[in-house]
Amino acid sequence: MTYPIVVKFGGTSVQDAAAFERAGGIVRSHGGARPVVVVSALSGMTDALLAAAATAHDGTAALDSLEPLFERHRQVARQLLSTAAATTWCTELDRSIHSLTDLAGRITRGADTGPALHDEFAAHGEHLAATLCSAVLEARGFRARYVDARRCIVTTDEHPAAVPLLAETRTRTQGELGPLLDVGEIPVLGGYVAAAANGGSDYSAALIGASLSASEIQIWTDVSGVLTADPRIVRAARTIPRLSYAEAAELAYFGAKVLHPRTIQPAMDAGIPVRICNSHAPDDPGTLVTAEADIWPETVKAIAHKRGITIVQVASARMLGAYGFLRALFDVFERHHTAVDVVATSEVSVSLSVEETAALPQIVAELRRLGEVRVEPRRAVVCIVGEGLRATPGIAARVFDAIRDINVLLVSQGASQVNLTFVVNDAEVGEVVTRLHAALLERDRAPTSVAIPAARPRAGAPLDVCQLARQLIDIPSISGEEAAIARFLAEYLTDLGYRVALADAAPGRPNLFATTGAAPRVVLCTHLDTVPPFIGSHDDGEFIAGRGACDSKGILAAQIVAAERLRADGFAELGLLYVVDEEMGSLGARAANAHPRARECRYVIVGEPTENKLAVGCKGSLRATLRCSGTGGHSAYPERGTSAIDGLLHILTDLRAATWPVDDFFGATTFNIGIIGGGTRTNVLASEAKADLHFRLVTDVDVVRHQLEDIVADRAEIEYLSVTPPMRLTGMPGFQQCVVGFTTDVAHLGHWGAPLLLGPGSMLEAHTAHERIAKAELAGGVDLYVELVRSLIAGHVSTAANARTGKLPMPFTRGGTA
Ligand code: ADP
Ligand code: MG
Repeated sequence: MTYPIVVKFGGTSVQDAAAFERAGGIVRSHGGARPVVVVSALSGMTDALLAAAATAHDGTAALDSLEPLFERHRQVARQLLSTAAATTWCTELDRSIHSLTDLAGRITRGADTGPALHDEFAAHGEHLAATLCSAVLEARGFRARYVDARRCIVTTDEHPAAVPLLAETRTRTQGELGPLLDVGEIPVLGGYVAAAANGGSDYSAALIGASLSASEIQIWTDVSGVLTADPRIVRAARTIPRLSYAEAAELAYFGAKVLHPRTIQPAMDAGIPVRICNSHAPDDPGTLVTAEADIWPETVKAIAHKRGITIVQVASARMLGAYGFLRALFDVFERHHTAVDVVATSEVSVSLSVEETAALPQIVAELRRLGEVRVEPRRAVVCIVGEGLRATPGIAARVFDAIRDINVLLVSQGASQVNLTFVVNDAEVGEVVTRLHAALLERDRAPTSVAIPAARPRAGAPLDVCQLARQLIDIPSISGEEAAIARFLAEYLTDLGYRVALADAAPGRPNLFATTGAAPRVVLCTHLDTVPPFIGSHDDGEFIAGRGACDSKGILAAQIVAAERLRADGFAELGLLYVVDEEMGSLGARAANAHPRARECRYVIVGEPTENKLAVGCKGSLRATLRCSGTGGHSAYPERGTSAIDGLLHILTDLRAATWPVDDFFGATTFNIGIIGGGTRTNVLASEAKADLHFRLVTDVDVVRHQLEDIVADRAEIEYLSVTPPMRLTGMPGFQQCVVGFTTDVAHLGHWGAPLLLGPGSMLEAHTAHERIAKAELAGGVDLYVELVRSLIAGHVSTAANARTGKLPMPFTRGGTA
């Protein structure tokens, strides 16, 4: 059975007839076989309804202000529906107007003016949009069916804080929508408003999607996904291709209006991907939110902000440290249904930020019993989000450096570890967001200090691999800053006659894919990025030196020259794939793996410095952090406490003494203790200590994991950071072979066909300050790439590893393994 796709349209995606038209097209093109449509009120409608409900209190003719909005609905009906259908729908509208008049009257009379009544008032906006949408879809030939969202979504009735009852919602939604879907009808629902006036339909879509185990929840809006900042403030904001649920939730909560904050939870619980798309540009990829996070180390993904925040400070020298004080404090906020966003404590005070201030006078009155209270209105929260924050010290310093002349009021590193949040004066928030975006997310736009060489290949003239390698080395491309080299190569290859496409794997970090025009059967692939620092090129006659000489740039040059030789021989089914971020998290390779041309390709030759040998195996990798805790205490009395550092050293000694697995093919498991940290003073028993380990695997990861866990036992916590299993690669008669200990992008390029790994240069040189490659070896690399492609095409391939299934045939062994 195919699972449904929930297609949700926001107010701006159904604002007028043209928008409704587009929405119909999107249901057809993106809704799959079983679409479920959720639609918001037309843009402006919910706010207008709530305003009308508010004025109804004063007895004014509340509905007059709504007439232009009703008229907008009528126009859509007249333009897109048949005369008969339009008349039918306008009767529906009249019924709504009648019932709104009735409600307004009740509000005016003060009969029962609870929040439930306001919710009911506002719900008409969603109801009208959904019945209209259903009629429009029917006019386009769909079998659409309006369903009242309240028949599916069941909530508690504590307005305005109604909470959905999940189990019941699930049963009801399946019961209401299942039968319609089974007979090929498209349910069309409005959002449910009780939870949140604006944006409640995002949440409704998520609840419906979760209830139906949808394969995807699509949020269609007026921007291409979640952007790196609010586009109304930062013109340079760009789409973030992928977010984790945690990141998306933080961004939504802290003001990225594009997604309602409650949307993520139901989707995350049910493991359903959420896609945010642009209804004005339906083919833009937008943002995909899933459990998996792309980690962009040393950088952040987005900056959200929320205005109109109030800070409440409670000072109490006497009580603060006392048991129960904080609970009493939070109790006050909870009783008044007021959420607290950011909290910071000092020795004598607690500061909290709140958005909702309706209950503030009562809250302040109650807080006065706990201490001295100060209220500071007109503040704004700024929230910097990225899974990379977890692992990257130093970002906070960069953040506060960029705004060092601005007064920062409250700082908190979120418990989720994916955000850094602080409060500034509302008047300064635009400046803060703009500056932080420039400092953290526009790095690739900063001018590079090194001039990019202008030399172009001359058509027809043979390329000089050494000269090209030097040109490439001289363009800095440290991970994160690959845009300049990608642009250079795009121009260079275009001049040679290739068809070149750049596609962002992360904002401002493009992968490059070039073909001759024909569908590629073999792709030569390596990475654009290098480790820091940048080192310019140098030619001493025998060697070319500089950053990336072995690891990236030399290989790029060798592959391009080889491709030119093959093309000159008439071999056109060749592609060049150059990816970002290999040195960090392989973002580029993972994005490239989703490339639509990947499945057409049979072989991918990945270039890494293997000393011109064909690598038939790569060891795997396992990174883990060990964390020990001690009890602290004065170091003069070590017997009275336990030191976390002592504990850690015992474990590390045991790990070093252990015998780790050895494999006939891959060799020995090795491990490195890369980082050790802990303690605060020489005269204090350390209460925390940690070590980061990196294993090179030759067996299934579980073998090492179990052994590690047995040795560590309950002496430390183990956090696994990443795992790559060992891989067997494709062999080829006539090539010298080896097994390499390092991991590469190969593991992430499974869709591109059988993987091969070969390149000039030595990994022992790579990443060093004296990185260099012999010119003869570079030229040899060109010959080998040409030969390897020719052999593959001639069908000499001896094994085809399948990295995905793990069913690996024995590698080709003639000549043995090095
Ligand atoms: P809809 O009517 O489709 O629900 P919303 O108005 O609720 O649309 O949300 C879309 C708007 O959110 C965008 O037009 C944009 O101005 C604003 N926005 C604020 N922050 C962001 C962000 N980080 N990414 C994208 N849009 C944002
Ligand atoms: Mg919205």
